[in-house]
Amino acid sequence: MARYSGAVCRLCRREGVKLFLKGDRCFGEKCAFERRGYSPGEHGQGRKKQASDYGLQLREKQKLRRMYVLLEKQFAGYFDKADRQKGITGTNLLVILERRLDNMVFRMGFASSRTEARQFVLHNHFLVNGKKVNIPSYLVKIGDEISVREKSRSIIRITDAMDTVLRRGIPAWLELDKDNFKGAVKMLPTRDELTMPVQEQLIVELYSK
Ligand code: SF4
Repeated sequence: MARYSGAVCRLCRREGVKLFLKGDRCFGEKCAFERRGYSPGEHGQGRKKQASDYGLQLREKQKLRRMYVLLEKQFAGYFDKADRQKGITGTNLLVILERRLDNMVFRMGFASSRTEARQFVLHNHFLVNGKKVNIPSYLVKIGDEISVREKSRSIIRITDAMDTVLRRGIPAWLELDKDNFKGAVKMLPTRDELTMPVQEQLIVELYSK
């Protein structure tokens, strides 16, 4: 399936939760979900049908997939990887998604959204442990250092994102050295530290059918 190219705010309204796909706008009063927090379309404000178990599981999967801006196939691949690891599959899945380089760039505040972070990574603006990495799906490890390349430090979109990151905060498992345009992965998050509203167990049930 091709990448979604429609209005992303519709996705938040469809999933009934803020997915933070539009950067700083998501934190202001212009957020479409804050203004119209009902489903998009002609019948968006109508009475809702009771969702089936499958419907609930599907919505949860779509919510998480859209949050990380992934295609179906990529997402299913991450589920397989999580399922093969020891521990709780749902938590493994969330941690793997967090380890993506584009997510780390977003979390550290070098980009205002995951989509923007992906674009920055593809355009070679970042180093991992001093080496150029332009693969958004690159999985970082504990101790890795992510930095903005010297010549990319004057890019307005990066500096703007760094100025506004405090509105959403830096997660406790990451370390940011704003003055030197770099951050490090102190540890991987525990389930309690991942506060996005996702019931990952429903996703596990969906893929276990
Ligand atoms: Fe979602 Fe952000 Fe649009 Fe709000 S502004 S509806 S959080 S993408």
